[in-house]
Amino acid sequence: MIYQRTIAKEVSITGIGIHSGKKVTLKMYPSDADTGVVFKRTDIPSAQAIKADARNVGPTRNNTTLGEGADAIHTVEHLLSALYGLGIDNVYCEMDGPEVPIMDGSSASFVFVLKETGVENLNKTKKFMVITEPVEVEHNGTFARIEPSKNLIIDSTIVFAHPTINTQKEIFEFSCENYIQEISRARTFGMLRDVDMLKRMGLAKGGSLDNAIVLDDYKVINQDGLRFRDEFVRHKILDTIGDVSLLGYELAGKITTYKSGHYLHNVLCRKVLDTPSCFEIVSASSLTQEVREAHRLPQFISVTN
Ligand SMILES: [Zn+2]
Repeated sequence: MIYQRTIAKEVSITGIGIHSGKKVTLKMYPSDADTGVVFKRTDIPSAQAIKADARNVGPTRNNTTLGEGADAIHTVEHLLSALYGLGIDNVYCEMDGPEVPIMDGSSASFVFVLKETGVENLNKTKKFMVITEPVEVEHNGTFARIEPSKNLIIDSTIVFAHPTINTQKEIFEFSCENYIQEISRARTFGMLRDVDMLKRMGLAKGGSLDNAIVLDDYKVINQDGLRFRDEFVRHKILDTIGDVSLLGYELAGKITTYKSGHYLHNVLCRKVLDTPSCFEIVSASSLTQEVREAHRLPQFISVTN
């Protein structure tokens, strides 16, 4: 049996927002089965709690934001990706600022903190969204599709007119262990030539070589170089997992993306939710043994019952 998970105890992380440049403390608390991931701003007394749900997504320019206006929660995608990667379905998050801390630009810091905090099994079976019919969305020469598959598979292609990136394609089959090893360490990236423009737009104020891969016109300028040869497409998979976790369930389906971003991921999720004939919600017990194994946590993460 695979049970729903939360964290074993409360935990706090402090860092800066990549776009706001503001220091923020994120506190995570264990929560009950079937409550999902919920965020609340504590710096704004009137702020409402917002559930991590694709239908609550506001702006998607350069990050994924939950809600709109002054009490929105910005840049949720890397934290949500880490939670999905460890199969943590339920957690209550409080933040004293507008943006989830960027940490090192990947989800590895969140994975590390969650591993140290430990995971608790709840007394309720995990639920899966099994895709039964393909759904596809397109926008300006980019596309994203989800179609039936036993396990979550992400086939991602990115294309950048840059000699270090060019076209990168990677097919990732989900397991908690593969996520931790192959995806969680891949960092976000940006072009040096875009930094001034982003800063003028009020974005990337907290961006630095400590939390992003930065490229000049020819090469990566971070002194330690890349963590993976194809770190860029691996980060796209990390973002995709965070964004599709907003469907609210563990997924069984194959996602194919071409030059996709947060906007298109959200359009895909909304189309899925608006097409009830394309999915079924099932209990983990009706999946194959192999898929259930993929959602088991590796030995180095302590799980309490
Ligand atoms: Zn990202």
